[in-house]
Amino acid sequence: MTISNRAASESGFTLIELMVVVLIVGILLTVAVPVYLRSTEMAKTNSCQTNLRTLDGAIQTYTAEQGVPPVDMSELVPTQVKQEPNCPIDAGHTYSLIGNALSPPVQARVECGDANGRGGIEDPDHNN
Ligand SMILES: [Zn+2]
Repeated sequence: MTISNRAASESGFTLIELMVVVLIVGILLTVAVPVYLRSTEMAKTNSCQTNLRTLDGAIQTYTAEQGVPPVDMSELVPTQVKQEPNCPIDAGHTYSLIGNALSPPVQARVECGDANGRGGIEDPDHNN
């Protein structure tokens, strides 16, 4: 075998080499995709909790200024918050008040969930 013949026969990748590369890429994707999906889910949950904290602060400020808690979320706009935030977890979720001046104890807090109050989260800092 001359040098030029040998170089020509060894150019490119063998099937085994390609299969090993595909296997390694597959293993990396198997690890990376769930981590990525979990981190985006956690980011959405953290963002929703931040919205809840913001709204809880707005409720407390409103209560301090007005002497009574807000009856519904629209009373916080635009004096306390520019607009009602959208839940990043689910577009169908809305933020709603739990308890108000009409249902003692006179205290309001906020939760996130769908129209039936399912699937959401409450203000993480609120202590009953
Ligand atoms: Zn939410």
